[in-house]
Amino acid sequence: MRILIVYVHPEPTSFCGALKDRAVETLSRLGHEVEVSDLYAEGFNPVAGRHDFIGQFDSERFHYQNEQLHAANEGGFAPELEREQARLLRADLVIFIFPLWWSNVPAMLKGWVDRVLAFGVVYLDGLRFERGMLKGKRGMACVTTGGTPERFSPEGVYGPIEGVLRPVNRGVFEYLGMEVVPPFVAYAAPRIDDAGRRAYLDDWTRRLEAL
Ligand SMILES: Cc1cc2nc3c(=O)[nH]c(=O)nc-3n(C[C@H](O)[C@H](O)[C@H](O)COP(=O)(O)OP(=O)(O)OC[C@H]3O[C@@H](n4cnc5c(N)ncnc54)[C@H](O)[C@@H]3O)c2cc1C
Repeated sequence: MRILIVYVHPEPTSFCGALKDRAVETLSRLGHEVEVSDLYAEGFNPVAGRHDFIGQFDSERFHYQNEQLHAANEGGFAPELEREQARLLRADLVIFIFPLWWSNVPAMLKGWVDRVLAFGVVYLDGLRFERGMLKGKRGMACVTTGGTPERFSPEGVYGPIEGVLRPVNRGVFEYLGMEVVPPFVAYAAPRIDDAGRRAYLDDWTRRLEAL
């Protein structure tokens, strides 16, 4: 299997970093081809704009999706977007590894979604959800939280993690036609002790082995 890990954390020694390293080790050991988009280390620019394109469709008025479609048809994306789109299109499975920030993905990952998942490249009118262009691929979120599992229970302040992750699972993966793999969640990663975190890493290894 070809696997793309989109990893988002500013600190390599973070627990997210440990989950990313464990994923690379485990999946490589199993013989999979693993690529990592390490957005902070690679200096990915999350801000969308005219700089996304090397040509232009309309010099008078900037309409993002029109420019994306034009670039998709003419091969006119900036090099970092071409690189990320190629990584994505090569992959059978895409894993987002990120800390939960403000009940959502960090801005760096949101920017990757906005810029890389371009109109004309991965979706078009009528080619979404069940008819999505990335049918056949799978998507998975691996997320760390500060909040405890109780906070993500039906009575908790955030509600179940499935609801919190809907923008990723429904709004991105399923939108593109991908099959959602249930998320891996390391709740309260900074609050628990080292043994608890090692147990999370062992669970994560088992989840990866079972993919
Ligand atoms: C802007 C912002 C918004 C936030 N919003 C939310 C929110 O909405 N909801 C919520 O629940 N939380 C929220 N948080 C908290 C955040 O989700 C957690 O701090 C984060 O998910 C913890 O993951 P980390 O990778 O950053 O852990 P880190 O803090 O980097 O690491 C946790 C601990 O793991 C240790 N560690 C690293 N590697 C290993 C290893 N191999 N083995 C064992 N231990 C290891 C580290 O040394 C550290 O002690 C927010 C935080 C920020 C900054």
